[in-house]
Amino acid sequence: MSAYGTEPGAPTNDGNPGETSELPQPEDLGFGRYLGAHLVLAEHDGARWSAPGLLPRQALCVPVASAGVQYGLSVFEGLKAYRGADGGVHLFRPQAHAHRFAASAARLGLPAVDEALFVESCAMAVDAHRKLLPPYGRGSLYLRPTIHADEEFLGLRRAQRHRYSVVVSACSDPAMKRLRLWAEPHLIRAAVGGLGAAKTGANYAAGLAGLMHAQAKAYDDVVWLDAATHTRLGEAGSMNLFVRIGSRLLTPPLDGCILAGITRDSLLQMARRARLDAVECEISLDDLAIAQQRGELGGAFGCGTAARIVAIDEIGDSTRCIRFSAQDACVSRLCAALKDVQEGGTSDWPQWRY
Ligand code: PMP
Repeated sequence: MSAYGTEPGAPTNDGNPGETSELPQPEDLGFGRYLGAHLVLAEHDGARWSAPGLLPRQALCVPVASAGVQYGLSVFEGLKAYRGADGGVHLFRPQAHAHRFAASAARLGLPAVDEALFVESCAMAVDAHRKLLPPYGRGSLYLRPTIHADEEFLGLRRAQRHRYSVVVSACSDPAMKRLRLWAEPHLIRAAVGGLGAAKTGANYAAGLAGLMHAQAKAYDDVVWLDAATHTRLGEAGSMNLFVRIGSRLLTPPLDGCILAGITRDSLLQMARRARLDAVECEISLDDLAIAQQRGELGGAFGCGTAARIVAIDEIGDSTRCIRFSAQDACVSRLCAALKDVQEGGTSDWPQWRY
């Protein structure tokens, strides 16, 4: 058991197991378990957001008879703060997360949190929990900004009161694992015109049964296929998907059905700067099967803030099993480069550190 930092000025321990004294080694933190004892909170009264303040996490009450609880009128974000090699702390691409947060809020009729408030509140949350941040290279502080409709009213309409909160959780550096994915034949996660591009609870609720089907068949997670034809790949569970075919690195396009991942965007930019042929295009299960027959199928992976890059070993459905290369140097290089950029070990992308 240990505390990672000794910076002064952080709130005192109020007994929450996530607060300093009872933290396990960074490698044993996992994800989402060790929550910070405080949260940042702002309130929207129908006209504007209040200034953000810090309060004990357990002091927040959420009315059950609110559209946030009853109708899922809430959106969230997920971003990370890292301790750099010099011991300093930084957020990775908070402005990009702010823009996606505003787009999600607009889709659900929630008041937007502007970039300045988003970045200020995330910085406040990190400052209050510096002691939770694992040492350089060994983990991160995950931030979960959320907007929820908070008015006590059971009718369905745009609410008059909302709350914006940021909670944090100390996390391990993601473990290297390899996934077997089930191409879900019946259920869909999202359709054109729906909520698929918004980071909102409904998408995760819609996806849970697919995950359970996959696990019942001894797969690790699900690959979502498009609603119209059930042939084109969407997301790998709660991650964006990349596949290498020949010399090209492919990822499904932002068609409104998948989340515009910040990790996806970072990898596309990094790959293009490294002169890799990185392409956003439709990918079908047949394309993968043909590439496999021709011996052109390289590695595949899912990517996201929580997991960084997770290799995919195979995608199966009731008729076939597509196996990806386990030794793809291009994938390993991208994974190492992304970790380095996120943790601030390189100055190649200074605009992504805040
Ligand atoms: N798709 C879904 C459905 C997600 O929930 C996430 C985040 N876990 C991603 C993609 C990846 O997005 P990001 O890289 O911004 O974390």
